[in-house]
Amino acid sequence: MFEYAPAPESRSVVDIAGSYGLFIDGAFDGGKDGNVFKTVNPATEEVLAEVAAAGPEDVDRAVAAARRAFGPWSALPGAERAKYLFRIARIIQERSRELAVLESLDNGKPIKESRDVDLPLVAAHFFYYAGWADKLAYAGFGPDPRPIGVAGQVIPWNFPLLMLAWKIAPALATGNTVVLKPAETTPLSALFFADVCRQAELPPGVVNIVTGAGDTGAYLVQHPDVNKVAFTGSTEVGREIARAVSGTAKRLTLELGGKAANIVFDDAPIDQAVEGIVNGIFFNQGHVCCAGSRLLVQESVADELLVSLKRRMATLRVGDPLDKNTDIGAINSAAQLTRITELSEIGASEGAERWSPECTLPDRGFWFAPTIFTGVTQAHRIAREEIFGPVLSVLTFRTPEEAVAKANNTPYGLSAGIWTEKGSRILAVADKLRAGVVWANTFNKFDPASPFGGYKESGYGREGGRHGLEAYLA
Ligand code: NAD
Repeated sequence: MFEYAPAPESRSVVDIAGSYGLFIDGAFDGGKDGNVFKTVNPATEEVLAEVAAAGPEDVDRAVAAARRAFGPWSALPGAERAKYLFRIARIIQERSRELAVLESLDNGKPIKESRDVDLPLVAAHFFYYAGWADKLAYAGFGPDPRPIGVAGQVIPWNFPLLMLAWKIAPALATGNTVVLKPAETTPLSALFFADVCRQAELPPGVVNIVTGAGDTGAYLVQHPDVNKVAFTGSTEVGREIARAVSGTAKRLTLELGGKAANIVFDDAPIDQAVEGIVNGIFFNQGHVCCAGSRLLVQESVADELLVSLKRRMATLRVGDPLDKNTDIGAINSAAQLTRITELSEIGASEGAERWSPECTLPDRGFWFAPTIFTGVTQAHRIAREEIFGPVLSVLTFRTPEEAVAKANNTPYGLSAGIWTEKGSRILAVADKLRAGVVWANTFNKFDPASPFGGYKESGYGREGGRHGLEAYLA
């Protein structure tokens, strides 16, 4: 591997305050009972800021502000709402370098991903839904589609600002108002987004941000004046929320976990497939709900493919997220690192063969080397459970039927990948895969115009595209 000189992005492009309050009714304030929590840089364990932890009364205030704002906001002509969304999109573009550095600091993801993937997609989502705001009557939901009301939205830590965009852009375009709770390990970009809303002169109360842990999320989704709940996170919490919401008039969408199969047939271009496999599981440290965490490779090319995959993995650079050469950054939290470590140990103890390239991990912070397991069978826990880290389980198959059966043998159904030269095989296999998104000869491609969502324990409802409007219309 070539030695590269360090190429760090400047940290000085973002100004992080020592403490942050909640964003309610267009202004920041401390929580009612003064509780705070710390958010750390997972690459160094340095405390970045103290953030208010919202209690029930704070959530009440935020929901009340969203309720007051709902009447006037939903009464605006779509073209007027669109202007605010376009303004937000443009401000995000203008501030994208600052926001990318902030996201890498708080989340641990490599700057080349926050800069080249997260931020452009965040802006694209606001541009895309801005375009829908004045065309809702032509979207196929009847001549006068109406918003639902106040949306309570809870998001995870893996793509903090992007998940916020997926939630807030369609909600606002359709005339709803929102209270959003970011994840407790990555609250900062949502608070900076609050500032973007102020800059865009969005009317107070249309967007409210309440920070805090799971209990804050629980108050929000259970609040009697919330009409729509949108959740992205683990299947376990998703189940709890579904139980809390059932029997109420609330509308619910759930975007949950995954254990995607990435299927490589013997006629696939191996080098291209290897790039797709690497992107599928090591992008964002594998903290990706639709990660290609199960590689299914046709037996006749398995040896050849594994040689190429290992060679490619040996070139991955693990380290400082702000270095522009870094491919794999820090694991988001100590808790997530423990989970990845434990599941990987279980993989080895159950008899799968573990391999990682040689790599030196930094002394401080939370790190995990890119890892593959070969000799994995369907019975292994690493083949069934979501690891949510840079760990790939490799299984083999002989026939397309076996590939499909193995791919579908999971409680999840979020995404899948197919690698083959044959177009007819792509269509035939895609048709049989029980997954919300199927990529062919590519992986982890996102576009605001295409819907995203799961089957089975991966949740229900779609985000993105015209489908994404439906979740926010009465
Ligand atoms: P998590 O479920 O622990 O937390 C997600 C959010 O829910 C956080 O903001 C958390 O504070 C909040 N929360 C926790 N308990 C709650 C409760 N009882 N009521 C309301 N809110 C509560 O998940 P995580 O560890 O942050 O994220 C990882 C998970 O998210 C993975 O399983 C991943 O697959 C999934 N995910 C799915 C998608 C998708 O689109 N399908 C996208 C990204 C992540």
